[in-house]
Amino acid sequence: MWEINPYEIAKIELEFIAKKLDLPPNIEKFLKNVERSVIVSIPVIMDDGNLKIFEGFRVQHSSVLGPCKGGVRYSQLVTLDEIKALAMLMTWKTSLHRLPFGGSKGGVCVYPKNVSKRELEQITRRYTAEIINMIGPNKDIPAPDIGTDAQTMAYIMDTYSMQHGKTIPGVVTGKPIEIGGSPGRSDAAGTGLFFVIEKYCEKFDYDLKSMTIVIQGFGKVGSVIAKKLYEYGCKIIAITELAGGVYSEKGLDVDLLIEWRDKGKFLKDFKGNSIKSITNEELFKIKCDLLIPVATENQITKHNANDIDCKIILEGANGPTTPKADEILNKKGTIIIPDILANGGGVIVSYFEYVQDINAYYWDLERVNKELKKIILDTFENVCNLAKEKKESLRTASYMIAVSRVAKALQLRGIFP
Ligand code: GLU
Repeated sequence: MWEINPYEIAKIELEFIAKKLDLPPNIEKFLKNVERSVIVSIPVIMDDGNLKIFEGFRVQHSSVLGPCKGGVRYSQLVTLDEIKALAMLMTWKTSLHRLPFGGSKGGVCVYPKNVSKRELEQITRRYTAEIINMIGPNKDIPAPDIGTDAQTMAYIMDTYSMQHGKTIPGVVTGKPIEIGGSPGRSDAAGTGLFFVIEKYCEKFDYDLKSMTIVIQGFGKVGSVIAKKLYEYGCKIIAITELAGGVYSEKGLDVDLLIEWRDKGKFLKDFKGNSIKSITNEELFKIKCDLLIPVATENQITKHNANDIDCKIILEGANGPTTPKADEILNKKGTIIIPDILANGGGVIVSYFEYVQDINAYYWDLERVNKELKKIILDTFENVCNLAKEKKESLRTASYMIAVSRVAKALQLRGIFP
């Protein structure tokens, strides 16, 4: 399935940046490893009375800059190496946006739609119990990722709190607002993507409204960025989800598609004037101005990179482009706004939620979005400046900033003992 193993990809990317930064070999060696990785068994009595064991993971890549931070993914396809790669990516993402966190990630091998609500709650509570000594507001703070949501975070928070004899909202972010979640958190990754592409177009003289846009992914992030661009007046000509999707040269009505999806229907079955159903492979062949991969990692590979015909790629997913594909696209002159820069809105607002929980003082949506915009656009400016100065891609510049901050902190702290 992978072009190469995702953790190997993450290490190759780090090696490449280490060379650019001239990092001392010991620092590079240290950062290539994860600090802690745990595999747990999650036994659950299913609705039919039979016991089923699910596999779960939590990986802490780095706590050099602060408590580890990263989502929990529920997917049948989750592997330990995927979680390690995503944990490392979180270290770079939090560092790039100057958040006082390290990086981590978790996962459970389960497809949420294949289990009942009760079974899913049991899985979440038992997973939390198994990793309870690893997590905590000062240690490691989970959040939603693919397949998990605010309800999942509520169960994690409750399980953790019950074991500690008091309510501890700061143990997770992305909670429901009623129990200490932040306004704006559920849309934050999509909102951040919008701020970044809007700024990019303003800075480099593109007219966002007249762009043709193709989006892969219609989940918690994909549908938010699709709706924001649609409301802004952009023409979105294709959207797919895992099972495929729809294409219309005239542009799609995103509100109707969200309504359709919310009824539990597949995008590919949506019918309308001039609308054609398409596969994910076909999606990447559509000529457009802006392509937004916002599904999973390793979607743009050496096998389809040559087919891609767009001016800008805005990475909403984590790791959607393999290094080989990145090379091909850079040679073609395609601009890639990389994941750790573009999709940082989620973890930035997670940070705001954590700050609000710890201070027991809640912000309104206006303040959340204003501060999100400031942080993500400051990062954007820093990345653009370094990319220009060093004549590097936005990805390389982003990684150079992120990795050098962690490396510097590691040098200052030293290696224990
Ligand atoms: N899962 C999200 C990400 O990959 C958010 C992580 C968080 O908020 O901690 O960025």
